[in-house]
Amino acid sequence: MTPVKLLDRPTALVTGGAGFIGSHLCDELVKSRNVICVDNFITGVEENIDLLLQNPHFKFIRHDMSEPLDLESFPELDIFKVKVQGVQEVYNLACPTSPLEYKKLPLETLQANAQGTKHALEIAYKSDAKIVHASTAAIYGEPYNNQPFTENYWGYIDPVGPRSCYNEGKRYAESLVYSYATAKKMPFIIARIFNTYGPRTKLNDGRMIPDLVNKAIAKQPMVIYGAEDDISTFCYVSDVVEGLIKLMSHTGSGIYNLGSPEQYKLIDVAKLIMQLVDVKLPVENKTPPPYLSKQGVPDISKIKEEIGWFPLIPLVEGLRQTIDYFKAHQNLLDMKAGDPFSKSFNV
Ligand code: NAD
Repeated sequence: MTPVKLLDRPTALVTGGAGFIGSHLCDELVKSRNVICVDNFITGVEENIDLLLQNPHFKFIRHDMSEPLDLESFPELDIFKVKVQGVQEVYNLACPTSPLEYKKLPLETLQANAQGTKHALEIAYKSDAKIVHASTAAIYGEPYNNQPFTENYWGYIDPVGPRSCYNEGKRYAESLVYSYATAKKMPFIIARIFNTYGPRTKLNDGRMIPDLVNKAIAKQPMVIYGAEDDISTFCYVSDVVEGLIKLMSHTGSGIYNLGSPEQYKLIDVAKLIMQLVDVKLPVENKTPPPYLSKQGVPDISKIKEEIGWFPLIPLVEGLRQTIDYFKAHQNLLDMKAGDPFSKSFNV
């Protein structure tokens, strides 16, 4: 029998590939792999993958991962020999991810984590592929004694609070990835991503950086939810993408924090954004809304030592890129009073 010739390029499946992080991940993967991007556009947008649609190594499938997905039923994937060779890598990012969406899409958020993750695992198992699952710092809850989170901290979460569909959904997804992969003896990575920013982040979803950049550009007072000296961490999206790819290449399984350990006072971030936009605006401190949870800091010793990953892009550089993107997309913003601008959250 003639042996099956392996493709020159491996094939990667990215669920949630039209979202903020997913689209940057697809941009990077397509340089060396065939990429199948699956998304239902519940929070992602086509604009994020517009340029990729011209690339012969990229295919898009509109699909809700809460429903089973049979890649072999898509003739457009024959070019990647999916029927013969399956996929070699599965990146599972599909999940509505915006604080404002927890209120609007609680059931969709839970379904994406439960059914969506199960279907991604089934594809990986069928193909004998490794899965990298995008989890979150939110599984830890609020920081304990201001200690950086290490991967062996179990977390402290409200199962029925305003963020529970996301926080508990993500905890369930981690348990599912761990249990499924262990039972089936397949390799897995759980990447606990911390606060990430950069171009293509949603323009008005209430997260701190988009909120402050919008306010600076619109010359409105900068509102900080929390005390003057509250801190947060911010990791630029290209660093997170590099981390996800390195984690996939790593032989073996594991759970890793993926974020920036550098801590910034919120007031200093607001000042830096004003400096980069070249405006001077009043800064107001407001009581955090109920959805806001205090942000923790990652201990990244494990990923640094075992994978050789650490963030490279300085905040000032990442903010410059983000501000340029926001300036170019101002026409898409709904600047009506009462819009999401009034809240900042942690994801
Ligand atoms: P995003 O909302 O921009 O991207 C998520 C994508 O998944 C969207 O394109 C959305 O349409 C798609 N999606 C959601 N449910 C789906 C479903 N059932 N079927 C198919 N597609 C579906 O969010 P993001 O910021 O790019 O986050 C990507 C992943 O990283 C998420 O799993 C998120 O929980 C995790 N994460 C992100 C951050 C951050 O700061 N952005 C922090 C921690 C963890």
